[in-house]
Amino acid sequence: MSEKDDPPPSPEEISKKLSEFFKEQFGANASFMSFPGAMMGGDKAEPEGGGGPPDPEPAEDRDEPFDVFDFNRRPRDVKAHLDRFVIRQDEAKKALAIAVCDHYNRARYLRMLEEEDPEGAAAVEFSKQNVIIVGPTGVGKTYLVKHMAELIGVPFVKADATKFSETGYVGGDVDDLVRELVRRADGDVELAEHGIVYIDEIDKLASSGGNIGRDVSGRGVQTALLKLMEETEVPVRNPMDMGSQMQALFDMRSGKSSKRTINTRHILFIVSGAFSGLEKIVRKRIGSNAIGFSAEAAGPPMDGELFGKVSTQDFIDFGFEAEFIGRLPVRVVCEHLSADDLLEIMATSEGSLLRQYEKEFAAYGIQAKFERPALEEIARLAAEEKTGARGLLTVCERLLRDFKFELPGTSVSELVVDAALVADTGSALRRYRELGREVSSEKVARELELFSAEFERAHGVRLTFDDGAVAALGAAAAEGGVSPLQVCEAKFKDFQYGLKLIQRSTGRSEFLIDPAAVANPDGYLSEMVVRSYRSAEAGAKGGGHEGGEGDRATGGAQA
Ligand code: ADP
Repeated sequence: MSEKDDPPPSPEEISKKLSEFFKEQFGANASFMSFPGAMMGGDKAEPEGGGGPPDPEPAEDRDEPFDVFDFNRRPRDVKAHLDRFVIRQDEAKKALAIAVCDHYNRARYLRMLEEEDPEGAAAVEFSKQNVIIVGPTGVGKTYLVKHMAELIGVPFVKADATKFSETGYVGGDVDDLVRELVRRADGDVELAEHGIVYIDEIDKLASSGGNIGRDVSGRGVQTALLKLMEETEVPVRNPMDMGSQMQALFDMRSGKSSKRTINTRHILFIVSGAFSGLEKIVRKRIGSNAIGFSAEAAGPPMDGELFGKVSTQDFIDFGFEAEFIGRLPVRVVCEHLSADDLLEIMATSEGSLLRQYEKEFAAYGIQAKFERPALEEIARLAAEEKTGARGLLTVCERLLRDFKFELPGTSVSELVVDAALVADTGSALRRYRELGREVSSEKVARELELFSAEFERAHGVRLTFDDGAVAALGAAAAEGGVSPLQVCEAKFKDFQYGLKLIQRSTGRSEFLIDPAAVANPDGYLSEMVVRSYRSAEAGAKGGGHEGGEGDRATGGAQA
């Protein structure tokens, strides 16, 4: 690749070339401007949740920008915050809360020292509280880190270790993680220097463990990460990325961000992985095979008790470089979630996906209600998925997708997710479909009122509907799968001509529509017209009253 060999163009060179190009194309008065958002390069770090545009978190903290000098959280507060969202994982919450508080307290201390005595501060030896989380998928690892970063108000970036290659040419470049922090911090390098980088699937970097082909580059990525985890300066702009260079130019011109590099000294690194097989290594070492499980067979997963016995050597045996694992002093386990835990997540977590479903249905005017037995069954099915709390989403999507598609726009205003719905979703769906067809009379009456108002506005005569007519029109709408409004438009099309004739001859301006009129609108109209003429004649002869038109035409202004 030629980019590899040629030195990257400087921002000045790019600017000069682009200015020349613009002048050539559009004349001497044209000038070149760059656009900040469009030029951010290196968007390789995966946003939380994977794929899609990176969410602008932690936006909610922007009201109170993070300032390390103000950091005064205590581990207990951090854990209490996490408890609101994350069910179980108590030891992990505690250990993370302590690690994070220690980290930011130390950062505050060192920043203060840097201001007073820069040389002394640089000489201070300290080892960062980088964290390694061991745990299966979907048990809340990302969720924990994300909520912690939000609470503290620092930018947070998540990526998968498998996306990186040693050199940065094939996959992503580990340095991009740090640059992504700057982007999340809206270009605030100092804030990014206190951010949190979270790397999942770190176990895939292990050199043994059957990941053929991963060995060499896995070790290389470990080395690259090691550098970041200790302390290094990462250029704010990716030297290989033209867009970044142009952004640098833009920032320089706008006087923004004079810093060219990001120091990683105060960036907290959290890595995680399922580490399947690690439990066997530990059991083998401590000789617990004797108690009944073979090292070969799939024994029980890692739990808190066994994790308490994990040593650095076990990680090395798993395939990590000793230096690498040595930079991850805080070790935390996130345990497997049982069906009961999943039930609790739905019932009590503030971020419960039930709230999400309730909101989504409410947006269509449907109140979704989840009954306890249904939740128990959903939890049981989700546990079978073996993807932790992610299984809940899988199960709920499967159960509710068709309802979300079919119910909006019908007259259904309540969806009760009960045990019957979970047991036989197809039947429940058919039941709701039926219900959707029975358009409620209230809703029909509202639509008829709209029709009537519009009719009066356009033609100066008013139609009113009795209860029987409302029911008949509702039924016609349900049968035809159309709205009552559409039924009226079809049935009473051209009604105005006949009614205006009547109005002229009798002065009536309001007409009552009954079920007979709905059943045979034309017959109704002609009968009315005939009657009105008769009564007008009679009136002319005898000067009597006009009651002869029957009950349907109610009194309006007299002729
Ligand atoms: P992972 O452990 O693979 O990082 P996540 O943290 O991304 O899993 O979990 C996926 C989703 O499942 C979260 O966004 C959250 O909604 C839910 N979840 C997972 N674990 C828990 C938990 N312990 N308590 C509450 N919700 C959880």
